[in-house]
Amino acid sequence: MDTEHVDLGMPGVRPTPGPGVPRTGGAESGLRDQFGRVASDMRLSLTDKCNLRCQYCMPEAGLEWLKKDKLLTAAEIVRLVGLGVNNLGVRELRLTGGEPLVRADLVDIIAALRKNHPELPISLTTNGVGLAKKAQALADAGLTRLNVSMDTLHHDAFLQLTRRPFLDQVLAGIEAAAAAGLRPVKINAVLLRGINDGHAAELLQWSLDRGYELRFIEQMPLDADHGWTREGMITAAEIRDLLSGTFELSPDPRDRDGAPAERFEVRLQGSTELLGTVGIIASVTEPFCADCRRTRITAEGKVMSCLFSRTEVDLLALLRAGETTADDDAVIARWQDAMWAKPRAHGMGHPGLGDADFVQPDRSMSAIGG
Ligand code: SAM
Ligand code: SF4
Repeated sequence: MDTEHVDLGMPGVRPTPGPGVPRTGGAESGLRDQFGRVASDMRLSLTDKCNLRCQYCMPEAGLEWLKKDKLLTAAEIVRLVGLGVNNLGVRELRLTGGEPLVRADLVDIIAALRKNHPELPISLTTNGVGLAKKAQALADAGLTRLNVSMDTLHHDAFLQLTRRPFLDQVLAGIEAAAAAGLRPVKINAVLLRGINDGHAAELLQWSLDRGYELRFIEQMPLDADHGWTREGMITAAEIRDLLSGTFELSPDPRDRDGAPAERFEVRLQGSTELLGTVGIIASVTEPFCADCRRTRITAEGKVMSCLFSRTEVDLLALLRAGETTADDDAVIARWQDAMWAKPRAHGMGHPGLGDADFVQPDRSMSAIGG
């Protein structure tokens, strides 16, 4: 199918010069793509390793870790973020993985980034295993906030989803993060049919009671086992339905401002008292590609302009070529070129067209950096 002529039903795409147009402008044009979007939100994966095996992300066994010399070092991370912030208009940074807490130098990396960029919002996405011990050090190093992924409060379902019995550690980690002042703690949850879809309202009540911000993420076809199906996934509409037995959701009047989550105000059915908000990230059924502001770098220093991209552009070799201003300029230009080629949309989610344009990337979510 010719994606050029497919109306993806996304409002607000700016005037399009069209693919194939060469990029013009130097570093001052930032991380702009050919459809007029400008990326200012950097997602950087620190490792492909993980201590859980979530069904929707990793295989049960048998994924080989990258060799250490293939990973960005702490110094390379600091340099890359510096180029992004000082030269290319990056305005926020999220550290992710794999599981970023397994990197022994995580606290040092955050401290170095904070020293260089006192005002930069730096957040972390973690599965929370081992967080209880590290939360205070992360806060002291200058982390701004974090998201902890936790899909259920039930031990059996947690074990089934993550294939590891670590729910209590995650709960302790969330508590420690809040105590360390890393607020608002956000909780990320993916629902799988027949495992934890019945736990959605309970998880929301639990989060509201503690002042945590819960966000449900639609399951995306980024699992190593390639087990995702459109029929099997729980859609945003279904998530709203699952919650509506207990809660009334109304659109949050605040501007979404490029955020992936659509936020809703939450009240108990029949009550006017505002309890808090819940977010739903509907990447599959209600995609927000038109307003995407993300640039992603994998743990081995490859730019992915989109989570679903099948094209990767290597920056590591250029980083390792040298540290002069000319070397920096080469990294900047390659990063810009990679972003210029960002596809207009990921090819899923247009009613009636099915997923004809969509081909699942080779990498699993853990190896991209969610
Ligand atoms: N290990 C950390 C964690 O789990 O929070 C950080 C990396 S993980 C890849 C980042 C986020 O991606 C998590 O919130 C996880 O639930 C989500 N995720 C992983 N695979 C997914 C998938 N197939 N669909 C939707 N979300 C997914
Ligand atoms: Fe690990 Fe996060 Fe993937 Fe779960 S979602 S397997 S915790 S990287």
